[in-house]
Amino acid sequence: MRCLSCEQLSFEIICQKCQKNHLQPIFNKRELEKDFFVYSFYEYDAIKDLLNTKYQFYGDKVFQILANNSFKKFAENFDFPHLVTALPIDDHVNHDFSHTAILAKTLSTTKNIDVQYNLLHAHNKIKYAGKSLEFRKNNPRDFRFLPKINSEVILIDDLVTTGLTILEAKKVIQKSNNEVLFALTLGDAKF
Ligand SMILES: [Zn+2]
Repeated sequence: MRCLSCEQLSFEIICQKCQKNHLQPIFNKRELEKDFFVYSFYEYDAIKDLLNTKYQFYGDKVFQILANNSFKKFAENFDFPHLVTALPIDDHVNHDFSHTAILAKTLSTTKNIDVQYNLLHAHNKIKYAGKSLEFRKNNPRDFRFLPKINSEVILIDDLVTTGLTILEAKKVIQKSNNEVLFALTLGDAKF
């Protein structure tokens, strides 16, 4: 196949050289509300085209490569005294795969992170891309999260923009008496 980025022949959909040149993660931290942080690895503009592949049939390969370059490295260095649960946000299989599930699965390589799928789904299927903050506030995702997992939670998403989706998911998880430690995303639009 050809590399999506440089179009040279490659064994992977993004060649090793482009991964090395363009996908080195830069650890970024943003406070979404008091003492609650989202950690991310890339500037949104740097990976915008790659994130959009979630609508393509080959998007799973792109997300796996992004995850290997960022989430996997994070997992390797994750040192925590007890087991925590990673929850991908809205991990529906909309096309051929769920992009947030791919990201979360990469964390399961470390022994202190347990990944749980299909627990946190938005009832409201509205798309936020390109919409104003006011529109987002007026149209909440309406997350449903019923089970008590008795564990602290890490929230997983591909991108943080305003942070409203993550904060709404956090609130609903806290309602069922689970603590949310932090959120982890590939990109941050306010990097
Ligand atoms: Zn390339």
